[in-house]
Amino acid sequence: MKITKLQTLCLSRLHESECQWVTAAYRTIKADCAIVIIHTDGGINGIAEASAYGVPTNIRDWVDWMAPDIIGKDPEDPFSLPHPNGHSRSYDSAVAGIDSALWDLKGKIAGKRVSELLTEEPLKRVRLYASSGCRYDWGDKPEQLIEEALEYIDMGYTAMKFRIGTDWSHNNISVKDFLDLVHKLTDAVNGRMELMLDGNCRLNEDEAMEIALELDKLGFTWFEEPIPWRDIDAYSRLNDAVEMPITGGESFTTLERFRPYLDKNAYGIVQQDAGLCGITEAMRIAKTAYRFGVDTCPHSWHNGLMAMANGHLVAALPNPRVLELCMIQGPLQWDILEEKPLIESGWLILPDKPGLGVELASDIEERFPYIEGSYCVGLYS
Ligand SMILES: [Mg+2]
Repeated sequence: MKITKLQTLCLSRLHESECQWVTAAYRTIKADCAIVIIHTDGGINGIAEASAYGVPTNIRDWVDWMAPDIIGKDPEDPFSLPHPNGHSRSYDSAVAGIDSALWDLKGKIAGKRVSELLTEEPLKRVRLYASSGCRYDWGDKPEQLIEEALEYIDMGYTAMKFRIGTDWSHNNISVKDFLDLVHKLTDAVNGRMELMLDGNCRLNEDEAMEIALELDKLGFTWFEEPIPWRDIDAYSRLNDAVEMPITGGESFTTLERFRPYLDKNAYGIVQQDAGLCGITEAMRIAKTAYRFGVDTCPHSWHNGLMAMANGHLVAALPNPRVLELCMIQGPLQWDILEEKPLIESGWLILPDKPGLGVELASDIEERFPYIEGSYCVGLYS
């Protein structure tokens, strides 16, 4: 069997105005998607989603650039693929899309699920956590966060991650104001769901420490990227100060980027994303982190095909925990697939089919034509 062509689909969908979501100083107006397809002369294709943070059209350019070195290769033979370089999101996302699509193809050739290629006895389902809590506006009914959390409990989810809301300085929000909302949330949830907070690197160390100590008391599952990622020593101090894991690394695409954090005990959990670094590198990072006593809970945003790649990764991890599921992506998320996999009581059932276990719907380029430009606009401009 020979690889005959590499193709990248660039897709978008505008959010309805009531479905636009806000975080920090941005309003997100559309959902994007980049899908890499590896065609062969054997009648089967490999498919995977590359992180749209790499910008779909730029990912397509990089895939086209890499294609001549891959076309003509036998997918069953070992051959060298480009490696994430840790410097360009577009480049690394393209590498990730090719790498994960090759895993899908290898699974289809072997008649095995990708998770079965990664480990001997993978899980057949993975627990999801509802990831959102980024629609609430400090200037307009922040309690929306609580209504949203209760919806996820009703949907059967057992865990939820939320963010710190819109720009604090715009509405003079203090750590105390934020923690007041956190207490209202934990009272409303009343132990029915695990809670995680994502700081999106927006706090300073003092703010993060005050919040971390309180979240620790409240039994939060983790506190993600509380402060700018560059300050490894501050991450170590925060991670040392609390029982709850301080987590991060969602934008890191190589093991080398994680090493200083692992060496300094800066993360209690690492969050590499197969959509940004590929399944191969994500597994390599996970195995090394595990030797440091650090589990992997992958970042997974955007659409359903990426959820499948990260789902197979979680299913094959040394200590599988949870998979992130974006709750605010809209119809693009699952309508790209011919058949949506089952989600039962907050668990993603990995289909009993080879590869990633899903196929693309037939008409997605017509239904979701790519919309040029950024997915977000300034919230206050
Ligand atoms: Mg995050």
